[in-house]
Amino acid sequence: AGIALMAASLAFMAQAQPAGRPNVTAKADALLGRMTLEEKIGQLAQIGGIAFVPGSPKPEDAIRKGQAGSILWISKPGDINRLQKVAMEETRLHIPLIFGLDVIHGFKTLFPMPLALAASWDASLIERVHGVAAKEARASGITWTFAPMLDIARDPRWGRMIEGAGEDPFLGAMVARAQVRGFQGNDLTSQDHILACAKHFAGYGAADGGRDYDSSYISDSELWNVYFPPFKAALDAGVSTFMSAYMDLNDVPATGNSFLLQDVLRKTWKFQGFVVSDANSIGDLVTHGFARDRKDAAFRAFTAGVNMDMASGTYNENLLALVKAGRITEAQVEQAVRPILAAKYQLGLFDHPYVDEERSKAVVGAAEYRPIAREAAQRTAVLLRNEGGLLPLSKDAVKSIAVIGPLADAKRDMLTMWSGFDVDASTTVTVLEGIRTKLGGSARVESAAGVQIAKQFRSMFEDLFGMKSAEPWTEAQARQEFSKAVDLAKRSDVVVLALGEGAMMSGELASQSSLEMPGRQQELMEAVAATGKPVVLVLVNGRPLNITWASTHIPAILEAWHSGNEGGNAIADILFGDANPGGKLPITWPRNAGQIPIYYAHNTTHQPEGGRGFSSRYWDQSGAPLYPFGHGLSYTKFAVSNLKIANTQVKLGTPVEVSVDIENTGARAGTEVVQLYIHQRAGGASRPVRELKGFEKVGLKAGEKKTVRFSLGKAELSYWSSASKGWVLDAENFDVWVGQDASASLHAEFIVQP
Ligand code: BGC
Repeated sequence: AGIALMAASLAFMAQAQPAGRPNVTAKADALLGRMTLEEKIGQLAQIGGIAFVPGSPKPEDAIRKGQAGSILWISKPGDINRLQKVAMEETRLHIPLIFGLDVIHGFKTLFPMPLALAASWDASLIERVHGVAAKEARASGITWTFAPMLDIARDPRWGRMIEGAGEDPFLGAMVARAQVRGFQGNDLTSQDHILACAKHFAGYGAADGGRDYDSSYISDSELWNVYFPPFKAALDAGVSTFMSAYMDLNDVPATGNSFLLQDVLRKTWKFQGFVVSDANSIGDLVTHGFARDRKDAAFRAFTAGVNMDMASGTYNENLLALVKAGRITEAQVEQAVRPILAAKYQLGLFDHPYVDEERSKAVVGAAEYRPIAREAAQRTAVLLRNEGGLLPLSKDAVKSIAVIGPLADAKRDMLTMWSGFDVDASTTVTVLEGIRTKLGGSARVESAAGVQIAKQFRSMFEDLFGMKSAEPWTEAQARQEFSKAVDLAKRSDVVVLALGEGAMMSGELASQSSLEMPGRQQELMEAVAATGKPVVLVLVNGRPLNITWASTHIPAILEAWHSGNEGGNAIADILFGDANPGGKLPITWPRNAGQIPIYYAHNTTHQPEGGRGFSSRYWDQSGAPLYPFGHGLSYTKFAVSNLKIANTQVKLGTPVEVSVDIENTGARAGTEVVQLYIHQRAGGASRPVRELKGFEKVGLKAGEKKTVRFSLGKAELSYWSSASKGWVLDAENFDVWVGQDASASLHAEFIVQP
């Protein structure tokens, strides 16, 4: 019995009005009344501070001509003030500019990459981190970040998996809310907050073959149930802007897609803010074979619902002619400009257009943020394996330690490609440095890279960021460095192997055809393991790599990600037991690339270990992942027990109340994420074998026990059905599992009655 729900009853209602909104809209209207058509159109253009589309105007020229509402990729306070002055003093209406930048995991103080932050499963930490990022950015004059990236990603070949929250819509929605709160706060005039941007709407993470920018083909039920929820969560949290995506969604480019930008975003969700295109994605509508020419591209993007053109120049070139030809109306232009002006009022820019350069020196990169970066790196690391309790290492017992691998002492690679345009990695702490500081003079700490890693093809970003490729070693050098590393392992008590990826090996335009560790890292790992020394593998990387061999041969594996400025200190804290790891995978970890896509919330037709019966397994390897979604160990042990459902038979619409006990049964304090998964046994659609519908991060002292409660209401039990083109809640039988990862075995069931 499927019951269609009123859309509104599921809180799929209009976006909450941010404080002061009616007021700013009235101000925007008053200003609009004084603007010429040309001035209105000018506000719809964002101009690149770096000319990335050939023939782009210089920012100051565009501003002077009234053809810029916003500037991107300028981040120094002096430059920002200089350009703002042109807008304030040399244009007729003195409308301030919004300065936008990709503040993805910090501005000057760099925190762990976004996927790592999601591994904390900790909303307050995520909010705090982005609060600092916003504060530093705003102090520099940045008033808009192109974050959070909310694209669900189930293919780790896609380099941008690093920028999102992983594979799961429920976790993704939590992370989305926390990020928006962190960036935007409650008061955008406060000089501590900036506009956030929910990107890339929508489906960008489902690129064919994991190749960045490639087409996505996503069913409507998958869109609503999997890809949209983080965006909806950001919207409910009051996100001010959205960004369209580069790729085709079901053959219609996202930037010209009125289903996404009008039907879903404006009509169904009642979004009140503005949409910016992705960089040059309007110009790209021609490349897609969608728009006939640049004019057609401007027309299609504008009428689909893109308010602001990021860097393509097509709006400035064509909108005036399109209005004159009667193809779009001035009223439509006004409608597009209104939320942009409102945002400028919301930011208080008309009153305070300039940034205080003296204040920025005090705020940006302030020492007080470093402990937050360290704490974040401690809390985002995931302990994947710890056989025989090798970790934590004893500071007293270890007299010599070898820190080996190309990521052992690589400052820039502790960061990501989105670490700012003028990255200064000099204050970043590497794994080697962290361990050296930790051990002081008590042990011999030596290091060797062993192998080099390099990309086969550079992307335009290496050029844009002025990054040089390292001089490759000669054959003889490579042999020598390799042996040096293995010899070092032989004469050390313990080896920390720091392997993974360089900063530019994941992120945008950094897709990879396999998940193998780049270069000869696997060989190095095997040679080091063959010395018989205890080995800890520390992964510094952006995506799950093939560590299947390591998972049975290397006793301890710590996923440390690209962990930011304080990464090395945090890693040393964990290795030597000053911090207890509590991170949990926000993704399913595949054995190899052949398993992709692999995610825990698949439908029942796929029975990974289904034997000879009807199952969708491969014959040549286990269908199970290497590590399940939600996995992550601690130095203490937890036991989950006493799963109870208060009302196992509920009427449709009544929440189901679940409780469970969690106990720290080990010898030290730690945190665990109690995770609740459900499965609907039958109904109007096949539903996933498991879906995360609740979790709580719990901190417990040794021996401490707590009861955790979950409530499963309409929002958790309903799903979007392609049969009825809407949200439904079926009166059916449900399973519940609660535990420490997606393979949780503590089970109960309940029935929803009509
Ligand atoms: C990316 C966006 C980013 C924009 C501006 C594009 O290439 O896809 O995510 O915000 O550039 O830097």
